[in-house]
Amino acid sequence: MQGRELYATILGIGEPWRVKRVEVRAGAEEVEVFVEHDGSALNCSVCGASGSRYDARERTWRHLDTCQYKTLLTAEVPRTKCQAHGVHQVHVPWAEPGGRFTALFEGLAIDWLCEASISAVARRLRVSWDELDGIQQRAVARGLSRRKSESVTHLGIDETSYQKRHEYVTVVTDIKRARVLEVADGRDETALEGFYKGLSEEQRSGIVAVAMDMWKAYIKTTRRFVPDADSKIAFDRFHVAKHLNEAVDSVRKQEHRQLRADGDDRLLRTKFLWLMGPDRRRALPHDRRTLFSALRDCSLKVARAWAIKETARELWSYTTRGWAERAWKKWIGWALRSRLEPVRKTARMIREHLRGILNAILLRVTNATGTFTLTLPPGSVTTLPVPLTRADAFRSESWCIVRSSPCLARLVGHE
Ligand SMILES: [Zn+2]
Repeated sequence: MQGRELYATILGIGEPWRVKRVEVRAGAEEVEVFVEHDGSALNCSVCGASGSRYDARERTWRHLDTCQYKTLLTAEVPRTKCQAHGVHQVHVPWAEPGGRFTALFEGLAIDWLCEASISAVARRLRVSWDELDGIQQRAVARGLSRRKSESVTHLGIDETSYQKRHEYVTVVTDIKRARVLEVADGRDETALEGFYKGLSEEQRSGIVAVAMDMWKAYIKTTRRFVPDADSKIAFDRFHVAKHLNEAVDSVRKQEHRQLRADGDDRLLRTKFLWLMGPDRRRALPHDRRTLFSALRDCSLKVARAWAIKETARELWSYTTRGWAERAWKKWIGWALRSRLEPVRKTARMIREHLRGILNAILLRVTNATGTFTLTLPPGSVTTLPVPLTRADAFRSESWCIVRSSPCLARLVGHE
């Protein structure tokens, strides 16, 4: 008797449900709690109208462990017959339709997934990988259905590839709420289609800014779906800096090759000195800092490319379009006259996309405030710059993906 009351309390079982009996299997470290319906308030699970009992089916759910015993909840779940909707199982308050775990168990699993890898959680909770995957999918589906009515004002669009695989995915993030909205295969025009089509017209016109790289396919699709896209597409500072860094690095590589041919090793192992920002540079050991100062003051091509790149860094703080535009145009002119082909190429790209760069400055959007880790088991990791930090395994049909757990937690809300 006491046991039954105890379990009714622990499981949160109340009318019209009651605990019939509790079976403890000490050898198997298992407890099975049998629950029954008292026959009152039998409502159709589709429309809620009261119906008559048709029959009952026994079903079992895995619940949170009690005293480290695996705890199962078994109930004879009545089915009702409704005039309009036919025969349906009544709703059980402890689980979602179709699930084999109670809502509390699924909530615990999601909490754990925010802290540990999918295989660790599967081991710890004694569930299979597939079962855990199902729990995640249901949590994401719940989060997604909740999200349908929310507005997303600031989007971030990024591509990333699996290391060595050259398989691209497109990741759409909600910059303001720091969460992933979509991970789609590929990075062509169709990659973003599904995402935009999933938004209502109201949501699409509520978009204020879309931060992205200067990538034709993303620009084109965003223009198709977002009203007045040209004043909302923003090529953010992170992506522009990435292109400039690539230009500096290719100047360095060419020059290093030429110098080495003449027995000059000055640029050996200096790659990252030219790419790092001022903060990391200040943190360098004294000898590296001195070395870099000396190199920077030489008449090296890479030093000129570096100076152009570093100057661009200063061009993001303008608050009016007119001043920002003048400053960027002046910078573009300088870069184009540099006689450094990789730098000129990037400058031409920036000139073509200047409107979006000015949008980024005035809308104050950036895509890069943290690191989002994508992992393709076993072991291959690549990072992309969206404001997320931790990672958990996610599975889709064509790829395995690790999504950030703050993202997962936010996506599903807190269970
Ligand atoms: Zn009905």
